Amino acid sequence: MQEIKANDPKLRSWVEVAPHSDFPIQNLPFGIFRTESQLPHVCCAIGDKLIDLKALHVMGYLENLPFTLEDMVSDSLNRCMRHGKQGMRDLRNRVSKLLRSDMPDLRDKEHHVRQVLFNQNEVQLLMPIKVGDYTDFYSSEDHARNVGTMFRDPAKALLPNWKHLPVGYHGRASSITISGTPFHRPKGQTNASDETMPVFGPSKQLDFELEVAFVTFDGKPLGENISTAEADDYIFGMLLFNDWSARDIQRWEYVPLGPFISKNFISTVSPWLVTLDALEPFRVPGPVQDPEVLSYLKYAGDKNIDINLQVAIKPEQASETIVSHSNYKYMYWNMEQQLAHHTVNGCNIRCGDMMASGTISGPHEGSFGSMLEIAWKGTKPVSMNDGSTRSFIQDGDTVIIRGHAEKNGVRIGFGECSAKVLPSLP
Ligand code: CA
Repeated sequence: MQEIKANDPKLRSWVEVAPHSDFPIQNLPFGIFRTESQLPHVCCAIGDKLIDLKALHVMGYLENLPFTLEDMVSDSLNRCMRHGKQGMRDLRNRVSKLLRSDMPDLRDKEHHVRQVLFNQNEVQLLMPIKVGDYTDFYSSEDHARNVGTMFRDPAKALLPNWKHLPVGYHGRASSITISGTPFHRPKGQTNASDETMPVFGPSKQLDFELEVAFVTFDGKPLGENISTAEADDYIFGMLLFNDWSARDIQRWEYVPLGPFISKNFISTVSPWLVTLDALEPFRVPGPVQDPEVLSYLKYAGDKNIDINLQVAIKPEQASETIVSHSNYKYMYWNMEQQLAHHTVNGCNIRCGDMMASGTISGPHEGSFGSMLEIAWKGTKPVSMNDGSTRSFIQDGDTVIIRGHAEKNGVRIGFGECSAKVLPSLP
């Protein structure tokens, strides 16, 4: 792995960053923001501020990089991402250099600083990616085992294919929305017994799924595959992902082709694209894969990532209760294997495709990634701080996912992935 200077734990910025901020100079995730008077621009987060890359471009600070002004005045990162892994790495390195406490170029030009820095809480953050195709995997062994145990024979909780390939399905891109977007409880068909007639109405078992997702650059031409060794060159970065699910609708509809309208009504993502480069220092070994995987799924090096994850539920009139502490390092299949499997048949990927991990559950109670598992199919309701209980998500609840990696005094965070559930439309 080539050394990435922007990751040096010793770096400090002349922009003040609070000790537990998700966004120190070692992170510099990319996003899209707009103010009341301006079109959307590309930006990077630093502390509780953001730096406007369009303004930097106009002032000449992005000279000798391949990016045009149009790349920076855009309502998504896709145009920038057309410059590929090296282009985005060079851009992040340049922003890092401009923000370093020992670099006076921008620091000492007060009239420029005033034009490029904005308070995050005074602007609107927009959906950072125009999502092309969306794929959802099912790659946490503990999650797959929990679900298999609940709905099938516990002795055969994992289906025969599970340890031989990263199971996944093609989802819906149009309903992926940015954190802070409320939505109405979905309606659909349910049938509790399979023996009776189905009924139509609001889902009674609305659930979250704690996931992270990665976003890709343009891949190879149709027909060619991406190996596990090549995969990182095609992955831009990651964000937090809530794959909202209506369990009662899912139960009735999913046979034999998998979930459909129980999943496609909305998914929520966090606003900042944290680069894979920023996450490299937090790589850890994955689990031993036994039985041995087929050769196209073999990989070298540490490919899991140690990212602490947390889910909180905030009822309408009460403070939040944390219902899960999990970690992305628990995954059985890593991103590199997921991408290799996705493309081994010649399927092409494109700039802005989004691939979600699948629900991330840990090995013990307290680390499960969905209410289905936390309340164990409704048999163990969870107590909230206000004295109420939850088996699934109620109207008025806000579900908040947070995540960060931390090592050597550096904390790389994602910001919040949050959405409120409103009552069903009539
Ligand atoms: Ca999912």
